[in-house]
Amino acid sequence: MIEFKQVCKTYPNGVAGLKNIDLSIHKGEFLVIVGLSGAGKSTLLRSINRLHEITSGEILIDGKSITTAKGEKLRMMRRDIGMIFQSFNLVKRSTVLRNVLSGRVAYHSTLRTLLGMFPEKDVQLALQALERVNIKEKAYTRADQLSGGQQQRVSIARALAQEAKIILADEPVASLDPLTTKQVMDDLKRINQELGITTVVNLHDIDLAREYATRIIGMRAGEIVFDGTVQEATDET
Ligand code: ADP
Ligand code: ADP
Repeated sequence: MIEFKQVCKTYPNGVAGLKNIDLSIHKGEFLVIVGLSGAGKSTLLRSINRLHEITSGEILIDGKSITTAKGEKLRMMRRDIGMIFQSFNLVKRSTVLRNVLSGRVAYHSTLRTLLGMFPEKDVQLALQALERVNIKEKAYTRADQLSGGQQQRVSIARALAQEAKIILADEPVASLDPLTTKQVMDDLKRINQELGITTVVNLHDIDLAREYATRIIGMRAGEIVFDGTVQEATDET
């Protein structure tokens, strides 16, 4: 479903973020990328939706090149990809519901939605998404009143409201305590299983990777140095 073909990324300062990556990520996979800080995990993840532009090579999604896509075509491809960040990236002073509704923006180009008024159907979708991550009762609470774990669940709900087919999560639990980490990872895993959403998660904790992944990729200095099942990752150590 996501295919990297000889992908290289060199930052303007000469640092190689990705070195000749060939990788196929399959539909429905729960892929965890592990590696030390600076290994290239974030560069790899963010190159999928072109939050980072690659230097050479090509990335295909369902056989279509996102690397060469422009304008409306790129916008439609990006709509299928939900992004989850370590720092949640919510609008702090807005309600939880408004934050989740922002996942619907890509479906509209009307003045009403630009001003923040969404059709009732979208509100229902947003509330359903909140229900799926067990946080519907916070719909009318301001985002900055929630705990870190709750905020991360809101950002998962935003990706669900977006009807993303792929979720990219860049260190989603790096700032959370162990109990909250488990809740957020459980939510991601449950959504992956129930909705079949292809999920790619960056983690620096190999034990956590083993607990949740269907496949683990290890990165070092911009290269993939391990690619295997959880069993293989366990046999190695
Ligand atoms: P990870 O997510 O595994 O911590 P990154 O993908 O963030 O790794 O970084 C990979 C390499 O690219 C590192 O050497 C990092 O310093 C470098 N890098 C990341 N972003 C930039 C940038 N905007 N400009 C220059 N170098 C960068
Ligand atoms: P405000 O405009 O100050 O946010 P409102 O009373 O208009 O207050 O709405 C309260 C909350 O209801 C909003 O913050 C939003 O979370 C939610 N809401 C309900 N229906 C809609 C809708 N159709 N579009 C956008 N937000 C909605």
